[in-house]
Amino acid sequence: MAILAVGSIALDTIKSPYGKRERALGGSATFFSLSASYFAEVRMIGVVGEDFTAADEEVLKRRGVDTRGIERSEGKTFHWSGEYGANPNDCKMHDLQLNVFERFQPKIPREYQDSEYLFLGNINPSLQVEVHAKMKKTARLVGLDSHPFWIDTVPEQLTAAIKEVDVMIINDGEARQFAGEHNLLRAAKRILDKGPRALVIKHGEYGATIFFRDNSFGLGAHPFRSPAVPLEEVQDPTGAGDAFAGGFMGYIASQGILTAEVLKRAMFYGGVMGGFAVERFGTERLLELTRKEIDARFHLFRQMTHLD
Ligand code: AMP
Repeated sequence: MAILAVGSIALDTIKSPYGKRERALGGSATFFSLSASYFAEVRMIGVVGEDFTAADEEVLKRRGVDTRGIERSEGKTFHWSGEYGANPNDCKMHDLQLNVFERFQPKIPREYQDSEYLFLGNINPSLQVEVHAKMKKTARLVGLDSHPFWIDTVPEQLTAAIKEVDVMIINDGEARQFAGEHNLLRAAKRILDKGPRALVIKHGEYGATIFFRDNSFGLGAHPFRSPAVPLEEVQDPTGAGDAFAGGFMGYIASQGILTAEVLKRAMFYGGVMGGFAVERFGTERLLELTRKEIDARFHLFRQMTHLD
């Protein structure tokens, strides 16, 4: 089953105590697609500029990602630059240039129109709305991610974008900021009141929790929490959230049916992929994984959290 992913495709400059990378391939759609590619067929939509090279595209193609929906436009690719301190949760953003994304009008190639899963990655919420509207008839499950930049600058548009999605996936800081509420349970309720059937709140190195509206997915009575594996070395946290979303939606798409059990396992696979993403810089670790390694870590999660 195919997943259609829209989001930023970026050239990122990243600094952390472990080193530096200049204009490395990144962006929400990139991290999501590489992660999901271990589970399902992935198709990408986005825009890049003249500085995006054939080698950048080859990185995606090598993982089997369908790149026919990547549009080339005059100008520069989206650029983001950030620096992490000794605490990987502290990120200082140095620069954000939307560049070709400012004029982007998403088009869905004919070959993508039967995609049953849709991921609206971190990008201007008005573009998320456009893509969602075009895919409403076929998409069986729609996930959406966002970013403090959009919560700060266009909160009403984000509220419109989440209205009819199945699962919103954000981190705890973003949830608090978007809901205007510090307590996470209350923040989750406020966000769910705006429309999504479920809300995944990621807690970085501590895992993630999924909250449900009413009795959505037959799992509404209480939230479900999945772990993150403690890592000795976090070289670069960039893209962890998108890699989580890729594991989460990729696993759901690979199963074809959405039962309570599948949803819970998807939370675990999300944690597994988010953990891998941060072990090395940018996309480096996500390019060299094997399904065997992924499943071994899934089983480690079981051992870490099950009583027998
Ligand atoms: P994450 O660490 O999960 O927030 O994802 C980081 C990726 O998102 C980086 O590769 C950035 O290029 C990209 N990014 C950062 N800010 C934005 C933004 N405002 N809109 C879209 N993508 C962004």
